[in-house]
Amino acid sequence: MAFDLGNTNDPGLMAFISQLVEDSSLSPAEDEVARAALDQGIDALSTEDRGRLESSVIEPYLGDCEACGTTPAWEQVLMVYDTGLCATCFDKLEGADTLGVRPEWMPLVTTPDEDEDAPEPVPAPL
Ligand SMILES: [Zn+2]
Repeated sequence: MAFDLGNTNDPGLMAFISQLVEDSSLSPAEDEVARAALDQGIDALSTEDRGRLESSVIEPYLGDCEACGTTPAWEQVLMVYDTGLCATCFDKLEGADTLGVRPEWMPLVTTPDEDEDAPEPVPAPL
C-alpha cells in the first residue's frame, strides 16, 4: 500500500468517496467497491476490495498542492486534483487575478465561458 488512509471512519474521507460516486467518474468495478465502502465501511471490505479502493479509486486523486506542497485534507483532495491548488493557494490565485498579477507558479485555471452581457458575475457554487 502506497499511502496511509489514516482514520477509515473519517467523515471527510467518506464524503470524498461519496463525491466520486456522485460524479460518476468511476468504472463499474470501482463504483461497486466505493459504494460498498460507503455502505459497510472501509474496514468491512475484503483485503482485495480495500486494495482496489485504495489504488484504483482513491490514489489517482491524491496529490499535493502545486504551489505550497501541502498534502490536502480529504475535503480538499478533489479541489487540488481539479485546480492543482489547495484552498489557501486558490484564494491567493483569485486575489492575484483581481490584481491582474499571476505568479508563474500558478497554473491557469479554466473557467466556464463568461457571458459579457451578464450584469454581475455569478459566484461559483461552493
Ligand atoms: Zn497550497
